[in-house]
Amino acid sequence: MVPHFYRKKHERKGNNMDSKGAEKPITKKVAIIQPFANTYVSHRKFSNLITPLKAFTGSNIFVSTTTLHLATLLKKIGCQVRIYNDITEEIDPAHVSEDIVLITIVTSSARRGYEIARLFRDRRVIIGGVHASILPHEALHHADQVVVGECERVLPDLIAGRNKERIIDIKPPADLDEVPHIDYSYLKVPPKIISLQTSRGCPFNCSYCSVSRIFGRRYRFRSPGNVLSELLNYREKYGEIRKIDLRPDADFTCNVERAKEILRRMISEGIIPKSIVANARLEAYKDRELLSLMSQLNFTICIGIESINQNALDEYNKKQRAKDIDEAIRVFHDHNIKVYGYFIFGADCDEPGTLKQYADFINKSDLDIFTVTVLTPYPGTALHNRLVSQRRIFEFNWDYYDSFHVTFKPARMSAYEMQKVFNDFYLETFSLKSCLRPKLLFDIDSLKNQLFISLMTKILNKSFRRYEESLKIQAAEHKRLSWKLGSVDIHSS
Ligand code: SF4
Repeated sequence: MVPHFYRKKHERKGNNMDSKGAEKPITKKVAIIQPFANTYVSHRKFSNLITPLKAFTGSNIFVSTTTLHLATLLKKIGCQVRIYNDITEEIDPAHVSEDIVLITIVTSSARRGYEIARLFRDRRVIIGGVHASILPHEALHHADQVVVGECERVLPDLIAGRNKERIIDIKPPADLDEVPHIDYSYLKVPPKIISLQTSRGCPFNCSYCSVSRIFGRRYRFRSPGNVLSELLNYREKYGEIRKIDLRPDADFTCNVERAKEILRRMISEGIIPKSIVANARLEAYKDRELLSLMSQLNFTICIGIESINQNALDEYNKKQRAKDIDEAIRVFHDHNIKVYGYFIFGADCDEPGTLKQYADFINKSDLDIFTVTVLTPYPGTALHNRLVSQRRIFEFNWDYYDSFHVTFKPARMSAYEMQKVFNDFYLETFSLKSCLRPKLLFDIDSLKNQLFISLMTKILNKSFRRYEESLKIQAAEHKRLSWKLGSVDIHSS
């Protein structure tokens, strides 16, 4: 029987009901294909190295929570589902027996997703995901149907073929407690990390982020009881919970009372993993009770620091004070909470020397883990709209929209210069030698994380350098043409 959460009672009617008034199972065979950006797929030969490495770090990152969630939903309505993972296996239509192919894309994997869709012209292809939700008409060139936003409420009608709209855009579920818990049986080995989405949406509206555009500015969340029941079921099935990843939530602590209640109940149920990783905003450091609960549960808190320059934070509409950052990190550390800092490079006030300032800050504040990414104008964001109107985006190949490639003309340096200092910074900061930092030697999880980034940096460095070189050639070409034609050189600062 199809579970009721998909539709309200008055919406359930017609020949999809059995004689007892229950919805009939939809016995279709469905393939879910998770494409990866071409930049990474071209390194599939390294998957032999990556797969054991991910197993070593205990992560299921190559099967996303979205994919597992989709597989769970389909199984609930009666479908037979198989997941195909583009990074670890060659997608060959001859070896895909399913009649319906679902492809979920983010911006960096969109082109690869379309490439895969073309391989399945003889099947029904449905595309969804963040990128398809922002640019459904683009995705429709490659699919029979496109789903915009959250798919739960439309899935049975879509798969059964009752909904024939080409672009399907319906309201997301208001009550997330009705969404089923993830079924991990699709993974070849039981997961070492349980990955949970406990909320959707974000009331903030940072200029580079599409979360509020996709999931709305209303913070919708699962109740503490519902989250706990998922954890307890998991423990019953797979044994002790060793690690929890709450990063599918844009901000776990947005409703701080709910977050505290979840943590309190975990402690009272004896669910004390070796580590919990969660996204939160900087302000989380102000709630002492929250800090104490996090401390008891071995938290690593991932904070979007983004920049240490107030002008950049204001440009990002981050609603965060640069002067609070030092104190926040210190307070988290005082409570034995590890801090994972995210930084962005490329604001209009940023210069090549900004990365050196980040490096000094990271050393001084003793951040446990950190990532620096290139500001990327993802479609659907305010940043994208601004840079398009200023004619500053020069690269529309979505393969490069992965937060590691410069795709727009920065204000205070050339695109080539920005890419070069960024590549140099990564190679130096994440050298294998960097894994010998004394702090890491006593923290095995952070060490594994650093080791993974170091190896990936080494593997990908060649292709990043090739992109850097292409920017240099383009800049030289523009200079030559602008000298000849008297036009403006978009690549020089
Ligand atoms: S960056 Fe974080 S705080 Fe800002 S809109 Fe996105 S999810 Fe919300």
